[in-house]
Amino acid sequence: MTGDRDIKHMKWWGWGVDGVAFHHHDKPAFAPFVKEAVHLDLSTAQAVVPPELESLPVPVPKLTDAFAAQLVEVVGADHVHTDTLDRIVHTYGKSLRDLVRLRRAVIPRIPDVVLYPADEEQVRAIVDLAVAEDAVIIPFGGGTNISGSLEPPADETRPVLSVDLGRMNKVLDIDAESGLARIQAGTLGPDLEEQLGARGWTMGHFPDSFTHSTVGGWVATRSSGMQSDKYGDIADITRGLRLVVPGDVCVLRPLPSTATGPSVREMVLGSEGRLGIITEVTVQVHRLPEQRVIIGYLFPSWEAGLAAMQEIAASDAAPIVTRVSDANETKFSFSTSKAKPGLNLSGKIQKGLFTVLEKRGWDMSKVCLSFIGYEGAKSHVAYEKKLVKAIVGRHGGIVVGTGPGRLYDQKKFDTPYLRDFLLDRGAAGDVSETAAPWSRLMEVYDNTVAAAQRAYEEIGHPGWIMCHLSHSYHSGACLYFTFAFVHGEEDPLGEYDVVKSAIQQSFVDHGGTLSHHHAVGTEHSRWLEQDISAPGVAMINGVLGTIDPGRNFNPEKIT
Ligand code: FAD
Repeated sequence: MTGDRDIKHMKWWGWGVDGVAFHHHDKPAFAPFVKEAVHLDLSTAQAVVPPELESLPVPVPKLTDAFAAQLVEVVGADHVHTDTLDRIVHTYGKSLRDLVRLRRAVIPRIPDVVLYPADEEQVRAIVDLAVAEDAVIIPFGGGTNISGSLEPPADETRPVLSVDLGRMNKVLDIDAESGLARIQAGTLGPDLEEQLGARGWTMGHFPDSFTHSTVGGWVATRSSGMQSDKYGDIADITRGLRLVVPGDVCVLRPLPSTATGPSVREMVLGSEGRLGIITEVTVQVHRLPEQRVIIGYLFPSWEAGLAAMQEIAASDAAPIVTRVSDANETKFSFSTSKAKPGLNLSGKIQKGLFTVLEKRGWDMSKVCLSFIGYEGAKSHVAYEKKLVKAIVGRHGGIVVGTGPGRLYDQKKFDTPYLRDFLLDRGAAGDVSETAAPWSRLMEVYDNTVAAAQRAYEEIGHPGWIMCHLSHSYHSGACLYFTFAFVHGEEDPLGEYDVVKSAIQQSFVDHGGTLSHHHAVGTEHSRWLEQDISAPGVAMINGVLGTIDPGRNFNPEKIT
């Protein structure tokens, strides 16, 4: 069997495309920061090279010749792949657990075959064949999830089919009168925005993983993008969809709203491939804005920054992004600034901004960096900026200007490369995010930071935790934590579990959800009942068990 290489997959062992990596040669503050934060000396740390693909223990595919021949008949021989690279790429997502396991050649179960259907008809034929053969079907978008949403169960004895939607990558149609775009589920973020942009539209959904994730994956994981304050989460943006189920297609027509409840649309959102394969999504799109600007602000404390974000959420201003980092994340951001003055904030700070603020009585160890983004007609942007400036001022903050905002906008999709850089040097870095009501946000924050510190003491390694608020709502906001520590060689994932579990447990204990936008997968499923209660889990199981009694669709995810 041969395969094509038209689909843009990431490195099998890490984030992003070959040849692009994080480096710190032009960031003089980064190495000292890492040394202080996690006691890792970058001047002496040896980078470990990922293993050779050929060294991985990949068993021969469990696929009868007759079944393989039927699959070839459906999608064509060029789109049925059984080579090692394809199977490895489709085994995991990009969680820290996934990356560590790949680097250590821990691959208990791998898909037997990867299929690339061209259209919904082929998807339907694959699904019907697979169910008739009692095979497992795992839909694959971009493979960027970090919740263990893709891996086949370790003890799965049935054939496992990974169905990659990558050839279904077109914007099919735009209903300009309604601002609705029909999009094939395998379309990657940049391809989608390019096709929409060419016709004057944007979807406005920009997760940090935008460059490598797909519209179908966004829907299946209830994704949220950095501009969700204006455009909404994917759950708001998705108006209709088509989902292939055994023997049929579940069609949800695009509607502005409906009283047809319980909402099937909401059931498919976050279904992680367990209800079927999404082939098409109809989304709300918007005309490209006349103006777009991201402005940097500084606050004297985290509390002041949070209070300002809350007031902005309740105000007449509706920015696209409201984001504020805690003091630790602010230190991290400054450490990644380039030496060259100009756009970056550190250049400005070195020229005296900190001195001025210190004279005003600021404790610079507590300073918090914020980015707020605006889009729309020039007059609208000017009005919003004015409103926000007044709110920022009321909370003791200052406007830093568009320089840092421009830099943030340019570099926002580069940060994920940093995780591989750290992992190469023995440091585990990962994220956990939650959403909670405004009234409990500080409680979640304080307890989560404390829980992580206790976990670091338990594993005996100094660790780092930092946080930013993103995605504001009327009733609350998302808190996004990043944590890192230098792991031991013996059991890095055991140590990771101690820290990750402490953080997740703190979320549900203090009024937060198990995840604001990374779904449940296998990584978060043990907190599901605490999040939505036992009857809630029973409802999910009822739906999944009815639609998929044979457990053919991506088993063991969510519950
Ligand atoms: P995949 O990882 O391929 O699949 C995810 C799940 O969806 C699987 O269960 C899969 O079976 C299912 N699925 C995929 N396509 C279909 C389909 N067509 N039909 C049915 N089921 C399907 N997420 C955010 O929301 N916001 C962020 O800002 C964000 N930043 C990230 C940054 C990094 C560095 C990383 C590694 C991840 C980030 N994520 C973020 C998580 C991830 O990108 C999202 O979960 C994303 O929505 C997954 O899309 P995907 O196309 O890569 O799906």
